Amino acid sequence: MRVLIRAAIATCILLATEAGAQDAVRPSTAAKPDMAADASFRSFIDALRPDAEARGIGVATFDAAFRGISSPDPGILARTTAQGEFGRPVWEYLVGAVSIGRIAKGRSQAARLSSTLTAIEARTGVPRWIILAFWGVESDFGASGGTVPTIRALATLAQARFRGTLFRNELLDALTILQRGDIAPEAMKGSWAGAMGQTQFLPSTFLKHAVDFDGDGHRDIWRSEADALASIASYLQSLGWNRDLSWGYAVTLPGGFDLTRYRADLSDFTKRGVRRIDGGTLPASGAASLFLPGGSGGPIFLITDNFEVVRAYNTSDSYALAVGHLADRLAGGPALAAPWPTGAPRLDKAGLQALQKGLAARDLYAGDADGRAGPKLREAVRQYQIREGLVADGYATPNLLEYLTARP
Ligand code: CA
Repeated sequence: MRVLIRAAIATCILLATEAGAQDAVRPSTAAKPDMAADASFRSFIDALRPDAEARGIGVATFDAAFRGISSPDPGILARTTAQGEFGRPVWEYLVGAVSIGRIAKGRSQAARLSSTLTAIEARTGVPRWIILAFWGVESDFGASGGTVPTIRALATLAQARFRGTLFRNELLDALTILQRGDIAPEAMKGSWAGAMGQTQFLPSTFLKHAVDFDGDGHRDIWRSEADALASIASYLQSLGWNRDLSWGYAVTLPGGFDLTRYRADLSDFTKRGVRRIDGGTLPASGAASLFLPGGSGGPIFLITDNFEVVRAYNTSDSYALAVGHLADRLAGGPALAAPWPTGAPRLDKAGLQALQKGLAARDLYAGDADGRAGPKLREAVRQYQIREGLVADGYATPNLLEYLTARP
């Protein structure tokens, strides 16, 4: 559950910042001094001391962590309300996340770091292309791990009780990292929402999954490429990465394909004429399901359980598809040839919520009416399409909402 909560927050952050978590918060030059707010912030920090002490964080570590931090960062609080990008189409996200420049940069990094990646693959079973893709999407291959001081960012979010007590716990975890001496307070930097360094780990993820791969005694996801890459791989391994399968496969379907049988073994899909667009052979076995993020006319994928592992790093489907497709491109795979429905009308958040409510009223959808397209809504849409004899692509469109609304 904690993983899911972290991932949900990461999704908000990702979609708020559009290009991942690499951009820095603007300096809060416009903010006026607010003495009452500053006093309240200092009280919050003082109240944190006993909890920090209980976790074994010494006075010296605590004082060093908060040295020079006497006020919240209003720029960060402004960011928490700017999350309007959730409904951004997947194809727009892919343009930025899997650009030609990023593919070229990733391939050169793969060559430069080949021996390190070989060693990490051997230890974790996670392929280098996936590791590199995460590294690329999260921090542009380490070039932009964020410049926001993590302690002040987390303290700001914690005091504001953004997401309840989550950021207070992350702040205590960050102090634990400082206590262990993995990084100095002034070098502990990341995104406005506390995702740190080249891997963009929240402190709780760092404590569980960061790895000292270069053997210098410090888990350094800020300055050590080997530590950052191995930490990504170690995290994916612990989430259950299956080394026998890819994240998924870009495929084509034969004419007349029966979309109502969208979940099956890979061997079954092969028998039914599904083919990889890169000409490779699908694995002989493994559970998979069809994913048509632009409907039946757009690019089509067979996704495996590893897709859910990618989504655990960040719950957005767009994010997961970007990581998977970037990995394929880094490995030499082709671009997606099928056209995205870029000009077609799309459901906005309110439309998606209306669809969720309509499907819930028909006992097909049990999740929140949160206006987010994800696996639960996809499944409900498919069940409805199958029931109504429509093309079962799981793709939520204005036409589908109109169809459903006309049939109370
Ligand atoms: Ca190290």
